[in-house]
Amino acid sequence: MSSSTVSKLDDLIGLSTAKNVVRRLALDERGIHAILLYGAKGAGKRQLSRLITQQWLCTSPTADGADGTCRACGSFGRGNSPDLLNIEPQGLSRIIKNDSIINPNPKGDDPTPLLTFFRTPPMFSRHKVAVIHDADRMNSSSANALLKTLEEPHPHAKLLLITDTVGSLLPTILSRCLSVACEAPSKAEIESRFPDATPEEIRFAEGTPGRLSTVIAHRELYERLFQFAQRLPSRKPGEALVASEEFQSIAEGFQTASDSGARAANAEALDALAIFFAREPSCPPHWTHQIIEAHRRIVGNGGASIVFDALFTAMLSR
Ligand SMILES: [Zn+2]
Repeated sequence: MSSSTVSKLDDLIGLSTAKNVVRRLALDERGIHAILLYGAKGAGKRQLSRLITQQWLCTSPTADGADGTCRACGSFGRGNSPDLLNIEPQGLSRIIKNDSIINPNPKGDDPTPLLTFFRTPPMFSRHKVAVIHDADRMNSSSANALLKTLEEPHPHAKLLLITDTVGSLLPTILSRCLSVACEAPSKAEIESRFPDATPEEIRFAEGTPGRLSTVIAHRELYERLFQFAQRLPSRKPGEALVASEEFQSIAEGFQTASDSGARAANAEALDALAIFFAREPSCPPHWTHQIIEAHRRIVGNGGASIVFDALFTAMLSR
């Protein structure tokens, strides 16, 4: 069965500019070696990047995009294409180091560096495709190494960069990519696609479909967080430690729901709380800063109960 790129494009909400670029690319991709997808977290960049990647790999694409039936499409669908390289930030600092781009002597488990990957022609796909996720996390030496690839692209090499924060990329990289904005859908588009989403859920998702799907999948948890956040402004300073305990229990819920580690779950719960108060007119202005500071401490490996106790004590003291 064929599964064309264009029909899958129609499944994505919003992204009108980006969809037009992908449709044009299906008709004529001459001269396009590198594409940068940028836009808010959850806007659909990852799904879009998969469609572009498959279109580049496919050996018999049509005006509708990848045919979905060739050998290249098959191995892409199974997640084991030898002609696709995914590069992501590594380690606690989440940096894309120079090794991912250029590593003259890779040993053992070292990932294949991008320049080595591009040196040989594709095994059985039309192009070789490298995708750099969170491209803003490249340090300056990786970014400079990448420029070499962008300046003298191999004819078979295609590069896809993805970022939430386009401002952090080097201008020299931006100028060598086709930059494609992935804008969040309109309120009406969101409401028609997610008819049963509550206004609070849309607010927690910051209006992006990717996050909204997650919020709806864990709606009881977000409802608990909503009740907690709504009550917080009327709580007395003496209730800080009770509030901290309640919030810790909600954060544990995030851990169970997303099957992530405690630190990631605590950070996610704080993220959601900050999103809530950023759009709450009755919220004291310093609250958002205090939540972001607590988030920073959690990510930096601070103990949850200490960080949460300090946070709610500071928030409720006035
Ligand atoms: Zn194909």
